[in-house]
Amino acid sequence: MKSIVFLIVAVLSAPIAFAGSPPVNLLVTPRIAMAIVAKDERKLNDLDKAYLDAFTILRDDNPCSRLYGGTGAIEALNELMRVLRPAYLDRHIAVRMSGQTTMYKNATSGFTFRMFEKAELNMMGSFYRGNSPTERRVPLVADFQPNTRRTRVALLLHELGHLVRGADKKWVLLDDGHDLELSVKNTVLVVDACRDQIESVTRMTVAQQLEEPLTTIAQLATMP
Ligand SMILES: [Zn+2]
Repeated sequence: MKSIVFLIVAVLSAPIAFAGSPPVNLLVTPRIAMAIVAKDERKLNDLDKAYLDAFTILRDDNPCSRLYGGTGAIEALNELMRVLRPAYLDRHIAVRMSGQTTMYKNATSGFTFRMFEKAELNMMGSFYRGNSPTERRVPLVADFQPNTRRTRVALLLHELGHLVRGADKKWVLLDDGHDLELSVKNTVLVVDACRDQIESVTRMTVAQQLEEPLTTIAQLATMP
């Protein structure tokens, strides 16, 4: 999306010094994972559940988590969840990220990611709105119907692709804020890499996803 790559130094926890390199910053705690685990599963909303699906995929070693550089990407997902706000936008937009970006670096693992100043989740787009059988107005997400669990996790994984780098050190997805065609291609790229994980995670119940003890989940979220 619109990316004025602009490095701000935001120190969130114990700063670390990098000799000879520009100051980068720090660690994000796995606060969302813990918030979710602490929540009664009956109170989880669609966004919480989509987060949990993405989290469940990323905490394992699989082709999808490898696209994002491994479990370290959970921190970027957590930061996305922290910034994400509801918005009312054109139905062709599902999520929009804009503004300055901040770079984060995990002091332990060295995993880096960026986050945009603003991330908007469209209440009128494919995350929440489906189509009636006779009228197709909300676009499909890859080949997934809008307003489904598979679409919601695919959308979060798409946004995550703008925040983290792949094995080639480039952002997993090219900026597509002004290019609907590229945005669609980006979603296809994500779904091609992640289809098996999306299919299997969306067959799990919340209870199955939360079976791992809290401490394990919390540790995984900060693990290199
Ligand atoms: Zn995009």
